[in-house]
Amino acid sequence: MSHDVITHIPDEVLADLSVDPAILVSDPTEIRAMSADSSMRSKKAEANDRPLATAAIVVRPVTTEQVSRVLAWATKHGVPVTPRGLGSGTVGAGLPIRGGVVLDLAEMDEIGEVDVTNRMVTVGAGVRLSDLDEAIAETGLSVGHYPQSFSLASVGGSIAMRGSGTFSSLHGNMDDRVGDLEVVLPTGEIVTTHSMPRASLGPDLKQLFAGSEGMLGVITKVTLRLVPLPVARRFNSVRYETFEQALEAMRLTLVAGVRPAVVRIYDPVEASAKHAQFAEQEGWLTILVFDGDADLVATQEEIALRLAAEHGGTVLGPEPAVHWEQRRFNWSWFTDAVGHEGGAAEAIEVSATWSELPALYERMKAAGGTVMPEFMAHVSHVYDQGAALYAIVRGQFADDAEALTHYDAVWEAVVTAALDSGAVMGHHHGVGLERAPWMERGIGAGSMNLLRSLSKALDPAGIMNPGKAGL
Ligand SMILES: Cc1cc2nc3c(=O)[nH]c(=O)nc-3n(C[C@H](O)[C@H](O)[C@H](O)COP(=O)(O)OP(=O)(O)OC[C@H]3O[C@@H](n4cnc5c(N)ncnc54)[C@H](O)[C@@H]3O)c2cc1C
Repeated sequence: MSHDVITHIPDEVLADLSVDPAILVSDPTEIRAMSADSSMRSKKAEANDRPLATAAIVVRPVTTEQVSRVLAWATKHGVPVTPRGLGSGTVGAGLPIRGGVVLDLAEMDEIGEVDVTNRMVTVGAGVRLSDLDEAIAETGLSVGHYPQSFSLASVGGSIAMRGSGTFSSLHGNMDDRVGDLEVVLPTGEIVTTHSMPRASLGPDLKQLFAGSEGMLGVITKVTLRLVPLPVARRFNSVRYETFEQALEAMRLTLVAGVRPAVVRIYDPVEASAKHAQFAEQEGWLTILVFDGDADLVATQEEIALRLAAEHGGTVLGPEPAVHWEQRRFNWSWFTDAVGHEGGAAEAIEVSATWSELPALYERMKAAGGTVMPEFMAHVSHVYDQGAALYAIVRGQFADDAEALTHYDAVWEAVVTAALDSGAVMGHHHGVGLERAPWMERGIGAGSMNLLRSLSKALDPAGIMNPGKAGL
């Protein structure tokens, strides 16, 4: 595969692309906007008027057939194609670093009729998560996927990144919400899966595209598994002296069969930064939200609080959890820092088993804290076997060049600390460019070879989002 950057597509090559010219965008300002993402590196590059990547052209399809024609054409002419949802990715996965085409899917946003009985809906991959939920709310159903980027991300982008929403303990992650997919392969072939409600017909091919980060094909339509909107919601919160106490209480809560919708366990620094009442007292803050039938959530809350008390927890009541819910889509911790010359901020999320988590936290804190002035962390998603640890690092430096030096150093320090601890080096933000240097170590040489083979088999011309995830 050529590593050339395609900044211009010759007229005779473009003439061979038989699509409605109305879907081709050649305005430089729009191309530039569509060639950026929400990573700190991209934001800094934009602020300094030195974009990290620039596509030659943006194509804005409205039908699957158009996507198919674009990919067949790109394969024929060796033109790189980077799919784009709504550009909220934070690791550079959507940057067209080899130029070529940005395939902006935002207008493939149709919402089909909701099948209320079977709790399903088929939508265009470009639909905004929040628009979709708003449109179907009157049916009493929801997608059940509420990332902090709920109003910034598309359905297709969330699947392509294997994203997680804050209510994942109850509803699973985005890959769990996918029932079936329509995908256009790099050669232009259109594939649809048929596996609802469940299939034993060979490997689950739709999952090949969950986490594919635009490297294996373009997701064009998605049939989602919907969840009922909760009849009742209960909030509570607990303070613990130690991380170990908070983890053990939560682990046993899951053992007891209780499924809180939301679980967050904040370290003392983040607890006091986000909850005023914690400024006065050290401690770990667990936020709990229970969704469902009124009797069921009352019983679940009772069991969770009993286990909390048995493990050294002090029950604080609903207020900190309600406060969390009201501010859950706020990302000023990032924009305030990155928006200033010399400011740096990043969230690095990893996952580990229950027994690994305490040592992992200490290692990441020691590593991150030596590079950035501020380090704080919380458990953001829980599973029977362990949890995700979401670390926030921030700092103010002399200028953006120094901020980026520290940014590179903190990724290196925190990811290495996670890998040395036996953790999984990425939980829901994906690989893109930022995690690419550690991809082989993170998933193992055998898995990396398999990924390379899959990419080669599906994308013989190497056109799909080249240069990402260590491929
Ligand atoms: C403030 C903020 C908060 C965030 N909070 C969360 C969070 O809580 N949980 C979480 O999981 N993530 C979070 N993110 C990250 C981001 O929202 C997710 O990565 C999201 O899934 C990206 O969706 P998008 O539509 O913006 O995709 P884009 O950023 O446009 O693209 C991301 C990647 O997916 C590929 N892609 C996009 N659409 C398709 C498609 N249809 N077919 C094939 N490939 C495609 C692109 O090529 C690219 O590689 C947050 C980001 C921000 C800025």
